[in-house]
This record gives sequence, C-alpha cells and structure tokens, in this order.
Amino acid sequence: MRFITTLLTALVLAGSALAQPKPVQPAPSAITYLRCGALFDGKGDQLRRDVTIVVEGEHIREISGAAPPADGNIIDLSRMTCLPGLIDVHTHVLLQGDITAEDYDVQLLKQSVAYRAIQATVSARRALEYGFTTIRDLETEGAGYADVDLRNAINRGIVPGPRMKVATRALDVTGAYPLQGYNWQLDVPHGVQLCDGPDDCRKAVREQISHGADWIKVYVDRSYYFQAASGTHLGAVNGQILNDIPTFTLDELRAIVDEAHRQRRPVAAHAMALQGVHNAVEAGVDSIEHGDYIAPEDLQTMLRKGIFYVPTIFVGEYVAEGRARAGAPVWLDMVKINGETLRRAVAAGVKIAYGTDVGGFDWGINMAVQFPSMIKYGMSPAQALRSATSSAAELLRMQDQVGSLEPGKLADIIAVPGDPLADVTVLQKVGFVMKGGAVFRK
Ligand SMILES: [Zn+2]
Repeated sequence: MRFITTLLTALVLAGSALAQPKPVQPAPSAITYLRCGALFDGKGDQLRRDVTIVVEGEHIREISGAAPPADGNIIDLSRMTCLPGLIDVHTHVLLQGDITAEDYDVQLLKQSVAYRAIQATVSARRALEYGFTTIRDLETEGAGYADVDLRNAINRGIVPGPRMKVATRALDVTGAYPLQGYNWQLDVPHGVQLCDGPDDCRKAVREQISHGADWIKVYVDRSYYFQAASGTHLGAVNGQILNDIPTFTLDELRAIVDEAHRQRRPVAAHAMALQGVHNAVEAGVDSIEHGDYIAPEDLQTMLRKGIFYVPTIFVGEYVAEGRARAGAPVWLDMVKINGETLRRAVAAGVKIAYGTDVGGFDWGINMAVQFPSMIKYGMSPAQALRSATSSAAELLRMQDQVGSLEPGKLADIIAVPGDPLADVTVLQKVGFVMKGGAVFRK
C-alpha cells in the first residue's frame, strides 16, 4: 500500500513537472570547450595553467591541456582563472538584512510571505551572479516553507538561482526567539518553529521534513555574555570567554538529532558560545554555525566526530558596530573572540565550510567578501577557497556533484580575473558563471 501511494505521488509529480516551463539548458549532446588561462580545481593547493574544460550537457567530460578543436563551440577564458562554482553554506534568501532588531521585526510584521518570497527570488539571482552556484539556506525567519518553493522553482527553471539545500523554519524553545517584547495581549509571529520537550521537538522535525526540509536547523543558545576564564578555558580574549543561556536540554537536542538522522537529514546548530556549542557537539549535530567561542575540548569532539565549523566571521564584523550603537557593546568583543576561535580551529584541523549569513546583511554585498577575513584568522588562501568549494560540498553531501572541477561532476564553473590564491579579493569580481552546463553570466 505504501509503495503504491509513493508510486502514485511520483507519477503525479512527473506529470506536474511536464507542465512546468523547461529550464534553459543545453541539448544533452552539446559540447562546449572552456579555454581557461588557469584553473583551481577545488581540491589542490595550486593553479594549473592553460587548461581546456570539455563540458557535455550538464557535466564536465574532460579536463586537459589539449587545445580545443578549431570548429568547436569555444568560450575563451584564457585571461581568467576558472574555479568550481562557489558554495555558501549559511544564507537567508528570505531575509533582507537585520543589523538591528527593528530591521528584523519590520520584515515579519509588515511584509507578507508572498512579498518576501518575491524578494527572495532577487537574492537567489544575486547569489548566482556573484558566482555562488550552490547554497544551503538556513531558515526562512518567519516565512514558513517559502524556501522549499524557491528551491523547487529554481530546479524547474522558473527563476534563476543557485542549487539550494533548505532548512525551512528552524527550531527553538518557547521564549527564546524574536519577535519578543511586544504587548503580551498580542499574538506576534516568531522567526522559528517553537517546540518544547523531546516528543514535541521530534514531531516538529517530522513536520519540517514532510514539508520539504533538506536540513534541520536548531538554535542551541542565546543571550551571550563574557565571563572570566578559568584554568580550562583556553582561547580567552582579555581573560574572558563567551558564555550563553542554553535553549534546549540535552535530551531535547538528542531527540531532534536522532529524528533528523533517522530520516537521513543532517542537523545545523546555531551555537555561539560555551554551553550551547558543548550541548550541540555532545548531541551529535553535523555543523556548528557561528561558533564565536568554542572550548578546546569541544573542538576536539568536533574533530573526532567530523563536525563542521561554519565561522560567519564577516557578519560579526559587519553587525558589531550597529549592535554596539544600539546598546550591545558585547558584539565588538565577540568579533575578537570569534577570530581567535577560528585560528584555534584551523590549527586543530577541524573541518571548516564557508558560510556568510548573508540576509543577516544586505544581499547587495557580495558574499565573497568574507574570504579576506578567513585568511586574516589563520587560513591559507587555498584553504579558504576549499572551504567554499570541496569542503562545503562535503558538508552538504554533494561532493559527488559539485565543489570540484573533475570529469563526471556537474559543470558549475566560474572565472575570475587574476590569481585568487595571490589575491582572494578577485573572487568578488566573478566575470563568468556556468551552472549545470548553462552559461548564466558572461
Ligand atoms: Zn543565520
């Protein structure tokens, strides 16, 4: 019975797919030759010079030093460096900047989900223009399951945008997430789905997956404060470490992670400070988002369990001044301690993926703006580039499709003027974008 209903669903979906406009894609047999002056493959440490990438249909067929045939369909990138399409594993297409709490509240109170979804199509298009051909969008901030709709619309070729993995509504406990501070008689919207207790949270995970979540996102801490470091607290700044109020209990977190993993969905944890990070890594989440302060023993647990670190270092720098002006100077010290945490994570060999939290800042800012910050805190240029290509693909379980330039991979290829290993700011000047063999920007 179950098999038949599944089959029926598949047939209905196939039928509806036929009714959709077709994506702009090359004919399956079409061959394009990209002549690249240099190539960074997403995995190595160095550039290769004078390379031809043979693209057949959606995929890379071959990469070699051989010149393309004179009568072939050639795209001349001989003055540029070709790279895999970039990946940002922490975005919010449905958010258009929230430097202050007010920016955030206005979007939830005065904009309908339909309006926000229209804006999200523009954000998605921008990501692709910047050369980000894959993103993991980590929660809609009160816009329900609109990320699922946008992901599907992009996949069906209705609007342009990157490949998307989506987290839908995210989870937090009662009383922990905006909107907060309104007249108690008002029933205001919240930026997350609230759940309390292991069973309630397990149900929330099931609900989100049933509506199309690829990832589950969970908020594990809030209300950050500095406290004097004691003997075991390495990585302190000015003798202080960052602590928090943990949101979920360990039992609740374990239920969330168990239910998500049972259904083969990974879990991303917003975890900024001591106790939240500790609970998240103990519960076995798959990525730590932000991680402004991570205790040395928790970095070791991350290393042992293969948990990724996604240091959103730029947004911290970018929002710090605004939030300090609004009465929370703690954000300035958080930038410092975040930098030190990244330095320790790099030294420890923890897996790092590139995530910016764009949407938390304006989509008019190119997401590649974070590369210099990552290098400032201890990554080599090649490491920083791998964090946004092969490492990010590994976190997203997409390493067989994207994140590197190799035969058999999807032809998600960008090109920049100059050598990105010598100057990472050229990544903000992407001049060519191909996604799945289709040229988006030239
Ligand atoms: Zn975020």
